Amino acid sequence: MKASQFFVSTLKEAPADAEVVSHRLMMRAGMIKRLGAGIYNYMPMGLRVIRKVEAIVREEMNRAGAVELLMPVVQPAELWQETGRFDKMGPELMRVKDRHERDFIIQPTSEEVVTDIARQELRSYRALPKNFYHIQTKFRDERRPRFGVMRGREFTMKDAYSFDRDRDGAARSYQAMFEAYKRIFDRFGLQYRAVAADTGAIGGDLSHEFQVIAETGEDAIVYCPTSDYAANIELAEALAPAEPRAAATQPMVLAPTPGRSTCADVAELLGLPLQRTVKSLVLATDERNDAGDIVGTTVWLLLVRGDHELNEVKAGKLPGFAAGWRFATVAEIEEHFGCKPGYLGPVAMPKPVQVIADRSVAAMSDFVCGANQPDAHLTGVNWGRDLPEPALVADIRNVLPGDPSPDGAGVLAIQRGIEVGHVFYLGTKYSAAMNASFLDENGKPRLMEMGCYGIGVTRVVAAAIEQNHDERGIVWPVAIAPFAVVLCPIGYDRSEAVRREADRLHDALAARGIDVLLDDRGERPGVMFADWELIGVPLRIVLSDRGLKEGQLELQGRRDAEATRVPLDEVEATVQ
Ligand code: ATP
Ligand code: MG
Ligand code: MG
Ligand code: MG
Repeated sequence: MKASQFFVSTLKEAPADAEVVSHRLMMRAGMIKRLGAGIYNYMPMGLRVIRKVEAIVREEMNRAGAVELLMPVVQPAELWQETGRFDKMGPELMRVKDRHERDFIIQPTSEEVVTDIARQELRSYRALPKNFYHIQTKFRDERRPRFGVMRGREFTMKDAYSFDRDRDGAARSYQAMFEAYKRIFDRFGLQYRAVAADTGAIGGDLSHEFQVIAETGEDAIVYCPTSDYAANIELAEALAPAEPRAAATQPMVLAPTPGRSTCADVAELLGLPLQRTVKSLVLATDERNDAGDIVGTTVWLLLVRGDHELNEVKAGKLPGFAAGWRFATVAEIEEHFGCKPGYLGPVAMPKPVQVIADRSVAAMSDFVCGANQPDAHLTGVNWGRDLPEPALVADIRNVLPGDPSPDGAGVLAIQRGIEVGHVFYLGTKYSAAMNASFLDENGKPRLMEMGCYGIGVTRVVAAAIEQNHDERGIVWPVAIAPFAVVLCPIGYDRSEAVRREADRLHDALAARGIDVLLDDRGERPGVMFADWELIGVPLRIVLSDRGLKEGQLELQGRRDAEATRVPLDEVEATVQ
């Protein structure tokens, strides 16, 4: 491929709304172009990466015995009414009407459609097990689309659905997918962790998220460095001693008793066992106008570390949830709660205070502990996603680094990750709702046991960049790089020798199936090098008249500090 035939379009500056590094670099490298909120054009440079991710996913899904099909993006509402999701799902589900006023949805996933296929096509136990998958456009009307394709509204997902005769079969299908996912993420060349996740109402232990490790991730992962224990923060908290959870299910009003000042008192107030330390809590107060209408909500974040006195509490104020937070001044807290910060629990409060929370409490407390500065921007806290509506649900964070690991193997550590894949045992949730049954060996109808398995193809691209970049740009793992090698001839338009050697090398590498790009744009070396460092091509080969005279080319890996001179006749063998 020659650059002049391809499309290279880089930017010096990223647009101001690009908050995270992957979004900035994808914009600057010309990989994506914004069309609307959470909706992007995948430009040629970006599409090459997406296609490589898809190819690896496809190969490993096929290897694991899954069968590819393609289900429509626009789906009739009837199927979604059968499972109840048409009404139950919130505004994230995009509902549309056709010219006859009939309801449709734009698929956020495809359980309904695939179950409809299965109930028609998989009639006998002989047809099972079966695993159907597709790589298809998804639409979720995310409340806060952001970070480019990391949390888009339109995005590409690989979703697979397994159908089995019984629970054991479903567990085997699940395991096959789990193994396939490990191969997929290994092949991407990314550092990741498979973490246990909550199975919700279904119960059981068959749900895992695949998390790409990145400090900028929205999710928190709890793991034990000396054992295999790994769970997402939601599950880790759910499995921690049950009392805080139980106490936290209902919004509640603190009924403060004056004169007490320790953390344990707050714990008691909240109905927590005394031996557990309240580690963080979030309090929300409604702000009302004179007529009593709620005109805003102020969220107070309190952090209590260890069994300290409450005067170690730090308080942050989150006006209106989204506007960004800052620490409240002592005066503000005094005015609002009638006490000094640190003595919140025990004092009389002018208004009812509700303990709220959500899964992001962990994220928030990490963030606050880490950043601990006024006027910091609210990164790492996903309000739109994480604060349920109505927002006032109680929760207390009860897992912190250093806590004993549930498997007894050591202590817990917490790191941040990006959810790029999710495998989930569904049981008969959908087959029961849609009556997807098969005839067993005795001719008796039985419901199919299902599993679903997603990979966020476009999110993988962003996550790979979050994990692999430096101040000059992206550093692609070779397996998903848009090009594996870039040839940078100096004086391609002037020097016959340079042009001849560049063309020859290009053809020779291309013939070996290597994704090579020849930069024939005639840019100055500085511009050319900066572009390819930004775009993140793993290997650069520089051809110049001077080098050729000495029978040498310059090779430089994207992570290398310096170029290596390699004799001409060894270059091809060096490039793998
Ligand atoms: P999240 O917790 O980030 O909202 P999710 O749990 O809602 O993700 P799933 O329903 O498990 O997502 O979907 C499977 C995969 O699809 C996710 O693991 C993720 O990689 C990807 N995905 C989900 N939502 C988005 C989005 N808005 N943009 C890009 N990829 C997404
Ligand atoms: Mg989601
Ligand atoms: Mg999730
Ligand atoms: Mg998920």
